[in-house]
Amino acid sequence: MSELMVALVQASEKAANIARSCRQEETLFSLLIEEKKNDNRKVSADFKTLADVLVQEVIKHDIGKRFPGLENNIFGEETNEFMNGLGERIQVVVCEREEDTARLLSKVLDGNMQAAEALASAAHQDIIIPNLHTGSIHIPIHDLGVWVDPIDSTFQYIKGMSNCVPEDSIYSRGLQCVTVLIGVYDLQTGEPVMGVINQPFAVMDDSKRWRGRFFWGISAGPLSVNSLSSTTEPLSRGDSQNPVDPNPEVRAAKLSAVLSTREVKRVRALFQDCCERGVYYASGAGYKALCVILGLVDVYVFTEDSTYKWDSCGPHAILRSLGGDMADLKECLKRKQAGRPNERPELLYNTPVAEASGTEKWANRGGLIAYRSKADLEAVLQLLTTIEL
Ligand SMILES: [Mg+2]
Repeated sequence: MSELMVALVQASEKAANIARSCRQEETLFSLLIEEKKNDNRKVSADFKTLADVLVQEVIKHDIGKRFPGLENNIFGEETNEFMNGLGERIQVVVCEREEDTARLLSKVLDGNMQAAEALASAAHQDIIIPNLHTGSIHIPIHDLGVWVDPIDSTFQYIKGMSNCVPEDSIYSRGLQCVTVLIGVYDLQTGEPVMGVINQPFAVMDDSKRWRGRFFWGISAGPLSVNSLSSTTEPLSRGDSQNPVDPNPEVRAAKLSAVLSTREVKRVRALFQDCCERGVYYASGAGYKALCVILGLVDVYVFTEDSTYKWDSCGPHAILRSLGGDMADLKECLKRKQAGRPNERPELLYNTPVAEASGTEKWANRGGLIAYRSKADLEAVLQLLTTIEL
């Protein structure tokens, strides 16, 4: 199963390469943007890009090639249909041969062969990943499903700001908020087991080229392993400097949190009033979860229902490998109010929302909270019981 983790990281690196190459050519980039149909009701400025579609297909193709059958259980937001300037609908797929992929892409690109060849080259590039030291895990492939978000925070990707300044290492916007998310879950239990977060635009080097980085984690039965111990990230500002106080109210005051720029006003006000250690705002569900994973903040809280399974599955698996979790916020609040302290339902990935249709079937309806420490979860729940949600 460690081979699957390697394949996921490889696919995410290829995806990151495609995302970077698309950004580097402005003319190509403007060609690719096609406004998303109005089905994404809350994200007004979201776009469907060819990069999005191509990345998703590359991930399907590469993982399916290594693990036949698994490609049928890879799910995401995007369909592979793309409309070109002539109004022709084209199914974007990765072909066996690079030249065939280029020819297909040139149709989407209204005959721009140069651009098509550049994209096809990125889609067919061999990626070499060093040994990940995952240890050995044995999960039958047919028990697994995969959620993919090819480019999370598409809005920031399209805006393409490269000169944003972080606050305490947290970017509220800009290309740093863009992530490629791949999460593997157990089809039977719905629990996340493996995840990758790839950040294609992590640092700009001296020659003005972007360099990326990736993080992975596995949480399967007794095995918890991840890439975090070997990174040079600052260590958690959380538990070591923030000893557990049994009183959730005191604990809440010591929290730091990252919130969505789309969070409702009274929740923003509540956190700003109570969390002495800082409230930050950032774009991208994947990026906000990454801030928790890296220990830049204690929690990521979102009370709205506009994140989806493909946004949370990968980060959730990594959080679990760190001893944290991602829970259904409103379900947790209900259980707390009903006096059931042992029930803190986490997000699951195999069950659609009843009576919803389209992408809404896979919404995280109850909102979410991402955390590394259970005491922080309790502190947030305590805090949120003081307002009407
Ligand atoms: Mg997303």
